[in-house]
Amino acid sequence: MEDFMLSNGVSIPKIGFGTWQIPEGAEAKNAVVYALQNGYRHIDTAKIYENEKSVGEGILASGVSREEIFLTTKVWNSDRGYHETMAAFDKSLERLQTDFIDLYLIHWPANAAQYDNWKTLNAETWRAMEDLYTSGRVRAIGVCNFLIHHLEALKETAKINPMVNQIEYHPGHLQSEVVDYCKDNAILVEAWSPIGSGKILNNELLKEIAGRYNASVAQLCIKFCLQTGTLPLPKSVTPANISSNLDTDHFHISDEDMQRIAQMGEAGFSGLNPDTVDF
Ligand code: NAP
Repeated sequence: MEDFMLSNGVSIPKIGFGTWQIPEGAEAKNAVVYALQNGYRHIDTAKIYENEKSVGEGILASGVSREEIFLTTKVWNSDRGYHETMAAFDKSLERLQTDFIDLYLIHWPANAAQYDNWKTLNAETWRAMEDLYTSGRVRAIGVCNFLIHHLEALKETAKINPMVNQIEYHPGHLQSEVVDYCKDNAILVEAWSPIGSGKILNNELLKEIAGRYNASVAQLCIKFCLQTGTLPLPKSVTPANISSNLDTDHFHISDEDMQRIAQMGEAGFSGLNPDTVDF
């Protein structure tokens, strides 16, 4: 399967390996080694996951060269602002034992519920992201969890548009308005929790459709993301799941089934609304 292409021409492997909630230490290191040795070339971590050190060790232990791997990490909410973001970036590099990041993301927008100066906070964080990008230490920059009004506000001062918006996206939670906005603005949508953090695995409609394609529900969800032009980031610590999540080329979801999935009711939502989260 081909890569996605970012608006700056950088290619990004179509399925990324998610690492949220994989604890620092042997579990995270081994999961990353297994993922890389079994075909993944795209790893998604974040400062707040507290596993960057193990992700870095896993990359080194995998035998896959750093240049072959697309590595994403994120600046956490407590590091918003220009100088804070610059400092946070250096620390992430150190923990990851690398001297560049492929994709650096703002993890959550500062929101109006928490900050009167939310626009300025996001703009200052973004200014640091732009400088990291133009200095060549990051190959691409973007955001996570930005709704349309956060993206529109960022535009007021941005010199470079975000190349990625990583949002919650899975059957049962499609955020169509923000996805359409991103498509119109050449922003690639990455799907976090593409299998609803496991909460939609027993959904009857998804089980019925997956069964007809000889696919697992997880594979169906991942394929659904790909067929809608969003980049899925499935997480697993289970070797068989890690492998099968990358293996979705053997089937194609029909237009009719894509519609049935798109029209299923709300399911598996994390409950995290970027306008109201208090962290
Ligand atoms: P997910 O990938 O939707 O689901 C992970 C859950 O599904 C785990 O419990 C996993 O269990 C299970 N699972 C995975 N593959 C499976 C399979 N083939 N069969 C059965 N069960 C399977 O959830 P997520 O971790 O919430 O999201 C994925 C990634 O998105 C994160 O790891 C992170 O990188 C990113 N993310 C970003 C944000 C953000 O704000 N930017 C927020 C949340 C997540 P096992 O591990 O036991 O296999």
